Parts: sequence; structure tokens; C-alpha cells
Amino acid sequence: MKIRSVDVYIIDLPTIRPHQLAMHTIVEQTIILARVMDEEGAEGWAEVATIGGASYGEGTPEAIKVNIDTYIAPLIIGKKPVHYDKIMHEVSLNVRGNNFAKAVVESAMVDLVARRRNIPAYELFGGQIHKSLPVAWTLASGDTSKDIEEAKESLHQKRHNIFKLKIGKGNPYKNVEHVLKIIEAVGDQARITVDVNQAWDETTATYCIEALQEGGVSMVEQPLPAWDNEGMSRLTDRFKVPIMADESLNSLQDSFQIAKHRAGNSFALKICKHGGMTQTKKVAAIAEGVGFGLYGGTMIESSLGTAICAQLYSTIPKFEFGTELFGPLLFKENITLNEIKYENYEIIIPDGPGFGMEIDMEKVKHFSRGL
Ligand SMILES: [Mg+2]
Repeated sequence: MKIRSVDVYIIDLPTIRPHQLAMHTIVEQTIILARVMDEEGAEGWAEVATIGGASYGEGTPEAIKVNIDTYIAPLIIGKKPVHYDKIMHEVSLNVRGNNFAKAVVESAMVDLVARRRNIPAYELFGGQIHKSLPVAWTLASGDTSKDIEEAKESLHQKRHNIFKLKIGKGNPYKNVEHVLKIIEAVGDQARITVDVNQAWDETTATYCIEALQEGGVSMVEQPLPAWDNEGMSRLTDRFKVPIMADESLNSLQDSFQIAKHRAGNSFALKICKHGGMTQTKKVAAIAEGVGFGLYGGTMIESSLGTAICAQLYSTIPKFEFGTELFGPLLFKENITLNEIKYENYEIIIPDGPGFGMEIDMEKVKHFSRGL
């Protein structure tokens, strides 16, 4: 059965509280949905999320939609979605970059194929290794006592026992103090990691990581700008605390270069960054081959995007740093009829068919721009 149409929707979904990152504070998260339909009217759906327009990366929601509509859709219409890897190879020969756009289109084809066969999508990626995976929560209210309260409540509910602190915004030294206070309050019951989102220079990073390592932080994510792999190498050499590559790691080729030059010693995976599920498994293979720890990253997708990540991550042998698939917990509203389940500090991997999520078309219409 061949693909008949590709539709892209831009959705703005409100969050339960402001979520403060180095580059942007999210109060409404923009997600992009793609629907691929075959000649018999069967549908596959997928989602990618973006953070703060163009502030996190160059793939803005508007550009993702235009590039799919104009350049990618014509290349996949008339093709058989079961050959999704071959199709994406052909797309990549004609469309440079645009990893988010490629990711959402590939995932929609995967959903369609898996639904047609009545199987979960993970069966198309080698099968499930994990039925659930640990989930970190990001403490990003911007206020130390609120963050401590949120962490304690989360531990009490057995929701999360890994907390990531976003510390790229504001005074680095004050932010380090903020982290140390949180470790003091909950560090005996939880693992604390930090994400700098590229905000430091190497001198600042050297000073701050020293203090964070001493204070018991268990991982430092992207302390330096994405371009500064040499600086990342020196920090990786200097400190025992793991240094994670996130914004510096996009393509499969990036992952090889980072591994080769030890510009970090762990990877944050994100399907949208790598340009799709197939590419993400290849990046994970580079990590496995070089002995790097993995973190199942998020762009703060809602339920559908989270299900896609969870299903793919469930086929990858080891996540030394767990995942951060908390997205659905941050949203006030949902675009699927069913919800992602969390239990005992872990996300339960949704079962199929496809990604196991049923689109709520009313909600899609309500939150879509221009519908
Ligand atoms: Mg990050």
C-alpha cells in the first residue's frame, strides 16, 4: 500500500508551570504532528517538539512544516512506507539537514507500518529489551526552595529519583550554590545531574565543575557551546564526573567525532536531533562500541512523541543515566486519548499497535494553529 498524503500540524500546548531553560522559559510548548495516510486511508502519526522557536536550535516549527510540505512530502508520496529506511535515505540525498522534519516523517511511516501489521513499533527495531525505563525529572522552576519542594514531593510519590537541574541561565556561581543546596536537601535519596545547555566558557566550566564534582553531582551535560569540542575534550580529561554531549551531538558523524576525540564521555540521545529512529539506533551503536553511557533525552514531547522515544529506547540495551521522558507530566492538556503511565520511578513503555497512542482529533483541532 502506497502513501497518499502527508499532513503537518503545528500545536501550542500549555504547560503546568513555567519551565526555565538557559535559552527560553516554556509556558506553552510547540509540537509538530505529522500524519501519513496510505491509499486505503490507514494512518500513521508522529510528533516532534521544539523549544522556544529558534532559541534552542535552527529547526523552528514553521520551518519544519514548510520543509516537509514543500520538499519531503513529494519525495515520499507514492512510496511504500514499509521501506521507510530506504525512503529516508533517498530523502537525505535531496534534503540537507532538517533532522526534526525527517524524524517526524520517518516515525509517522513507522507508525503506519506497525499499525498495518498490528504490532508495536519496537518490533520493527529488533524487539523490546526493557518494559520500563527510569525517568529523571527536570527541576527548573528557577527557585531553590520550590525545586526542593518539588523534588521531595516527587520522591514521596515514587515518581522520580533522578533530578536534572538546568543551570545555564544567570550567574554560574550562584547556580552552583543552588545545586549544592538541592544535593544537601535530597542528595541521599536521589541522583542529581546538571545541564548547562552550552552556557559556560571553559574557564567558568573548569571552576564550576570542580565544585559540582566535589559536591556530588553525578553528570554534567553540555557545559560548553556546541562548537567547542576541544574544550569538551579537556574537561572530559580533567574531571571524573561524566561529561555529556547533547547540543554538540546531532548527526551520526558527530557521534563518531565526539567518541574519537573524547569530547564528552556520554551521549544524550534524541530522535529529532539525529533525524529519526533508524539514525538514533546508529548513534546508540557508536556509544556502545566506544563504551559511553547513554541518556534517553527529550525535547519535551507530549504523549505521542514520548511514546515514540520510549518504544525506541526500549530496544537499546543500556541507559546508564536513565531517560528524561517526563514530557507528558509537564503538559496541562493531551493530544492523545490515552496517557503515558509512570510507576515506581519509571516510564512504562507503551505497547502497540504502532506507538500505542490514539490521537484525539478534537484536541488536535483545538490547539492547532490555523485550523
Ligand atoms: Mg540537554
